[in-house]
Amino acid sequence: MWYIVFVASIVSFANQKGGVGKTTTCVNLARYIASFGYKILLVDFDPQANASSALGVVDKNMQNTIYSAMCGENVKKCVYNTRFSLDILPSTRDLANVESQLCVANDKHFVLKGVLADIKDEYDFIFIDCAPSINYMLVNALCASNGVVIPLQCEYFALEGLNQLLNTVMLTKKQLNKQLQLHGILLTMHSQNTRLCADVEKNMRELFAENVFESVIPRNIRLAEAPSYRMPVLDYDGNCKGAKAYEQLAKEYLSKFKE
Ligand code: ATP
Ligand code: MG
Repeated sequence: MWYIVFVASIVSFANQKGGVGKTTTCVNLARYIASFGYKILLVDFDPQANASSALGVVDKNMQNTIYSAMCGENVKKCVYNTRFSLDILPSTRDLANVESQLCVANDKHFVLKGVLADIKDEYDFIFIDCAPSINYMLVNALCASNGVVIPLQCEYFALEGLNQLLNTVMLTKKQLNKQLQLHGILLTMHSQNTRLCADVEKNMRELFAENVFESVIPRNIRLAEAPSYRMPVLDYDGNCKGAKAYEQLAKEYLSKFKE
């Protein structure tokens, strides 16, 4: 008798810089991967709860969240189905309390890993949308993951802070989670026909070579509008340039990381 064992690929979307496209990438890449038939869970690991609201899970008083799961609630009670063929483990502002609790916890690096252990067999992918900080929460996300994607905005200060983040990834890999791999750096908010974006892209490809995804996400207003309608861009306007770029990224991602 053969048993098929599903082991989820767990991926953190991280950059301590704010507003670089972590949540937009996490939600839209997850949505396209779901549209190709994979089972996927999105973990909103940010007290801003942007991923939760982008998928229409918006209740400030919600009791069962990633925070309650980290405090010991059965994680299966904290997973919500969405109408977009993907599940979410949502967040609320309460999650802001977790950082100080992690500081004094015995297994401070592995609390999220423990939470996801109970559900990872049910998914092909688990995506973790990280908050813009380098802290215990980020290390928890990295310790729970086998891959990390770094969205990087095409702008003059793009490289600032990247070394610090890559160091955190490398140290975590060396000391806490040998499986962790850089899945790639994703260039976001690329404005065509601007010299600056072209220069940033060239620079990044020279420095990081195949670690930079070939797919590039353009600056596209439809991507910014979709969350206010509580939808991924595929459902809001699947024909816009931003949607096509995330579709392309999903194909590239699957070809590299799903055997
Ligand atoms: P934070 O660090 O606060 O969590 P983030 O890195 O998750 O931010 P997003 O929330 O994804 O970044 O994006 C920041 C803002 O830019 C949002 O208003 C989003 O709608 C918008 N945005 C993201 N990507 C694009 C894009 N390619 N084109 C236009 N607007 C975009
Ligand atoms: Mg975000």
